[in-house]
Amino acid sequence: MPLQRKQQKSGLTGIRQPQGINSSFQAMNSLILILVALFCLFSIRVQGESPKPKPFGSPTVGPNSQKPPPPISSASPQSVDETAKPPVEKNPPPLDPNNRDPSVKPQDDFFIYANGSWIKRTQIPPEYSRWGSFNELIENNNDALHDITEKAENTQVDPRLAPETQKVGDYYASGMDEKTIEAMRIGPLEDEFKKIESIKDRSELLKEIAHLHSIGVDALFEFASGQDAKDSTHEIAQAVQGGLGLPDRDYYTKTDAASKKLRDQYVEHVAKMLTLTGEPAETAADHAKKILALETKLAEASRTQVQLRDPQKNYNKMPLRHLQDLTPDWNWSDYFKSIDLLEPGDVNVHQPGFFKAADQVFEDTPLDDWKAYLRWHLINAAAQELSKDFVDEDFNFKDRTLRGTEKIKPRWKRVIASTEEAIGEALGKLYVAFHFPPEAKARALELVNNLKEALADRIKTLDWMDEPTKREALKKLAAMRVKIGYPDKWLDYSLLPIDRGPFVLNAMRAAKFETTRELNKIGKPVDPTDWGMTPPTVNAYYNPNMNEIVFPAGILQPPFFYANADDAVNYGGIGAVIGHEMTHGFDDQGRQFDAAGNLRDWWTPQSAAKFKERSQAIVKQFNEYEPLPGLHVNGELTQGENIADLGGVKLAYAALQKALDKNPQEREKKIDGLTPEQRFFLSFATIWKSKQRDEDLKLRLNTDPHSPARYRVDGPFSNLPEFQRAFNIPDGSPMIRSADKRVKIW
Ligand SMILES: [Zn+2]
Repeated sequence: MPLQRKQQKSGLTGIRQPQGINSSFQAMNSLILILVALFCLFSIRVQGESPKPKPFGSPTVGPNSQKPPPPISSASPQSVDETAKPPVEKNPPPLDPNNRDPSVKPQDDFFIYANGSWIKRTQIPPEYSRWGSFNELIENNNDALHDITEKAENTQVDPRLAPETQKVGDYYASGMDEKTIEAMRIGPLEDEFKKIESIKDRSELLKEIAHLHSIGVDALFEFASGQDAKDSTHEIAQAVQGGLGLPDRDYYTKTDAASKKLRDQYVEHVAKMLTLTGEPAETAADHAKKILALETKLAEASRTQVQLRDPQKNYNKMPLRHLQDLTPDWNWSDYFKSIDLLEPGDVNVHQPGFFKAADQVFEDTPLDDWKAYLRWHLINAAAQELSKDFVDEDFNFKDRTLRGTEKIKPRWKRVIASTEEAIGEALGKLYVAFHFPPEAKARALELVNNLKEALADRIKTLDWMDEPTKREALKKLAAMRVKIGYPDKWLDYSLLPIDRGPFVLNAMRAAKFETTRELNKIGKPVDPTDWGMTPPTVNAYYNPNMNEIVFPAGILQPPFFYANADDAVNYGGIGAVIGHEMTHGFDDQGRQFDAAGNLRDWWTPQSAAKFKERSQAIVKQFNEYEPLPGLHVNGELTQGENIADLGGVKLAYAALQKALDKNPQEREKKIDGLTPEQRFFLSFATIWKSKQRDEDLKLRLNTDPHSPARYRVDGPFSNLPEFQRAFNIPDGSPMIRSADKRVKIW
């Protein structure tokens, strides 16, 4: 399945998954993510957990993994419990007191105080690697999308009148047609396999890699369009490290026993998949080892997750002849011809060292190994739209081994996920027509404006930032664009053929459509109406190149946003989400971009030095957290998100105070014995209510720029005097950092 259209940017939960994690056709737009690193609220994979059964992405079964992976049941994971439902309340009350643990005091561990009883009584549903507020809302959205897709499937409409309904209905129908899918197995991919088989020399090899890129298959490297980081009005070509099958380069290079074991499991998985395509077992086993060796060379040349966070290092715009010098053994004009790119212009080569090394790998690896590698990457991208044997093996490695998930999701959820990834704006258009009242948009906009005001106040009164830097910061804030709900201009899918034929071909055509759309942008002005998430997505993002914050319709619902709740609850929920995204514009990465979205240093050296001192303190704070024995949070990797979380709570709190100033009677009002301030902090803790499997936690500690949920609550709160006051907590309590250690940035 195509990757979710355009990965997120810095969202609430998670930037795009690291390379290699996507096993689906990824439209090139997914690259954009890579490229731009949108900052999301939540890691994309969360999204992946429900709508998108996106494959990879979970790391390792490490030495600390408590339980052995459950035996692969002989029962078909696909057919069990199609109707089983995880426990989701349709209209959860705000701040349900039954979730709190009265035996834990707020000053000892606020996350447990707020969510402890829920944690005790809740089991992670077997189809999930983690479970919490986000998932509950995603489940509710799934039901809404299910209703829409089924109606579309069963409605005979004239496609000229309702093109979205036709495409959604046919895509969904092709995915639900198990009988045909089973009967055809990999038949629909036969031509693709033949193309790979017929490669005779390295020139044809490169052309085939280009072709695979055009249908969304990751191989050797990634290529896409993206904004020029230093001229944000223009789209240029971008070349990025890639070509891995495991979630991150570190999975290939680490030498501990758990990592080695995981590589063995990966080799077994690759061999099994190749066997399913018809290779004799022995040949497949041999190929799998060679594939690991090839990918290891690419991994060794790849930058780490932390290195990738440096936008200056990823900016190496060069004329074609310089790019050609980097890779003397492959001919870029052949590549461009194969992807129909007539005028590539200058290319931003994100990791020149990677391309230099990749050229060597390109030249040195025997053609037969390359063919095996390409077959693997093709099947890895297509597995989820193929027959049950492929789907099961894909699940066994990517979800069971890497994430600890016990059971595959019912087919309809996986097909909806695929639909959303393939034609997300068609599905999203139908979704918002039924599920996004205009009042929600108006109310969200009002909250955004209040939060903007709060951030402006903060900037003006910061004691560590000098005046010239403040002026620039305020300019940037004033220019920050806001998108709420859904795009003003919907994508036009009329040139994308979707029918009730083979499911995998629908997915492939959709990936090709998206890739073409992205490549067509190269050399053109940026389209400011583009969205990086689909409307039903339960997430949000900041895009530094656009200097914009984006809140899809999916997140503007309980428990983030209640139409009828008191202000304290909404400011602690969606208010903090809005504050989080705004703060991304001023975190360690976002601050390097100016009001127009250009990578340009607008800081005086003095203010920059003071910022770094403060952000180092938050790196240190989070490095100390140890979610699993011996495994710490990576304070560098999660730095931007932790800054955004701290800023988000601080700003939302300030905005709530302003709102209470306007309604003084509200300030005195207690609900369920709780002051507005207490309800604010409880609301924030509630949105992070979650449980997680150890395997998933390990994967995320390695690759996710977001800290585990518990630290996203306890971490920022322990820095806030506002929190200490709200619960009247004595100094020296576990939840209160001493004054000299408190991190204060925005
Ligand atoms: Zn974020």
